[in-house]
Order: sequence, then C-alpha cells, then structure tokens
Amino acid sequence: MITITQQRLKCIGCNYCVEVAPHRWQMSKKDGRSQLIDSRERRGFWSVQVSEEEREINEKAAKLCPVKIIQLRG
Ligand code: SF4
Repeated sequence: MITITQQRLKCIGCNYCVEVAPHRWQMSKKDGRSQLIDSRERRGFWSVQVSEEEREINEKAAKLCPVKIIQLRG
C-alpha cells in the first residue's frame, strides 16, 4: 500500500491531477480545488491509502502539480 497526500487548501485548481488520474482525483464545483477521492482530512492534509497499482499514475500527478502539494509515501 502507498499513501497519497494532498495539501488541499493550496490547490490552484489547474486540473492536471484530474486529467492524469481521474479515478483518484476530481474537481470540486464548490471551491474549484481538486479532491483526492476517498481521502480524509487531518490538519490541512488530505490522505488516502491505495494499492501499489496506483503508484505510477499518481507519481505523474505529483510531478505535474505546479504547486507541489501532492506527496506519495510508502
Ligand atoms: S495538480 Fe495540484 S494544483 Fe493542480 S488541481 Fe491537482 S492538486 Fe491542485
């Protein structure tokens, strides 16, 4: 398992993560920031544990994110 984390309040809504990994990211119509699907918030960090299969695509999202708020651990 790996953990994906997003510092959501710093998201600028560029949509790159959604384009690269639409099964894990979606844009919120409410505030224009992307949402890490199935994540939970703790002190400004939204996290979710996912299977190894999602590593590559989310590494791509993390690399593309212009404000570098997506992290992968594990
Ligand atoms: S790539 Fe980064 S800034 Fe762009 S929508 Fe995703 S989390 Fe937000």
